[in-house]
Amino acid sequence: MIGRRTLLAAAGLVPTVALTGTNVEAKAEEQAPAAGGLIDLHSHFLPDFYVDEARRAGIAFPDGMPFWPSWSVESHLAMMDATGIDRAVLSISSPGVHFGDAAAAAALARRVNDFAAHVAAEHPGRFGNFAALPLPDIAASVAEAVRALDELHADGVTLLSNAAGTYLGNLTLAPLLTVLNDRSARVFVHPTSPPNANVVNLGRPAPLVEFLFDSARTAVDLVATGQLQRFPRIRWIFSHGGGVMPLVADRVDYFRNQAGLDKVSEGAVSSFQKFWYDTAGTPLPRQLPALTSLVGTEQVVYGSDYCFTSPAAAGEQANSLRNAGEASDWATLTTANATRLLTS
Ligand SMILES: [Zn+2]
Repeated sequence: MIGRRTLLAAAGLVPTVALTGTNVEAKAEEQAPAAGGLIDLHSHFLPDFYVDEARRAGIAFPDGMPFWPSWSVESHLAMMDATGIDRAVLSISSPGVHFGDAAAAAALARRVNDFAAHVAAEHPGRFGNFAALPLPDIAASVAEAVRALDELHADGVTLLSNAAGTYLGNLTLAPLLTVLNDRSARVFVHPTSPPNANVVNLGRPAPLVEFLFDSARTAVDLVATGQLQRFPRIRWIFSHGGGVMPLVADRVDYFRNQAGLDKVSEGAVSSFQKFWYDTAGTPLPRQLPALTSLVGTEQVVYGSDYCFTSPAAAGEQANSLRNAGEASDWATLTTANATRLLTS
């Protein structure tokens, strides 16, 4: 039987670090905001020690962006309050935690995950965490996934769309997908630059368009290799409405039949319909209708993409969802969907 505390922890409502027992529940109930706000499943934290380490590794312009955004717990809470976000599940964005040194990556993953657990414990009901993993180091990522999920009780893990060119369908990831599948883990897939970014970006930041292609690229890889079918219990959450996934799904199925890939995997359309998708970015007016034509509305969750999206832009995008009109009350709908995802 799943206890109340387990359910609350699964929903990111209860910290599991430094606090135990009934005090935790009492504190959570005391500080939890009123129901009805948004649940943000695409929300980034950038502690100073993380940015310092990235800069020391030579990453001054993350994915070609002109600067690292500033971040603090206080500014994150202020953005949430201004935008009407009740809860945010924190994640480390691209470029992740592996800057070239495997031992340093494993240590940084542990540090950011401990930090996020501490933030969640300090602000019950406001924050959860999709833990960072030090891919492409498989063994270290397995160890950290188990620690984060079993000991820190993270809401899930974050995987970048590729890790130094290893895409999610890569068979070498099987040991990691096995432990994630065993736990029915939520896996938040965040795009990153493709391996040949300097060639295809044409001097522009990768988030402009390459992120949207890399999300689709890794989803197609996950499907085409059959890895999605081999690990059916993982709950996959793709960023930015799946990128260009809705636009390429039919074409992928057409070509996979031509190429004989239909012998080794299920179709792209039916597979993509199993995923969850967040609304981070610019979902309206055109992207969200394309996404819902593929997946309907029950697996769409809200994402702000703060702090890589400014508070003002996050507010505008949230309001665009609230004011979409028609039958789609996206604020209510995405909160109900996220609650279902986080508590099951
Ligand atoms: Zn993001």
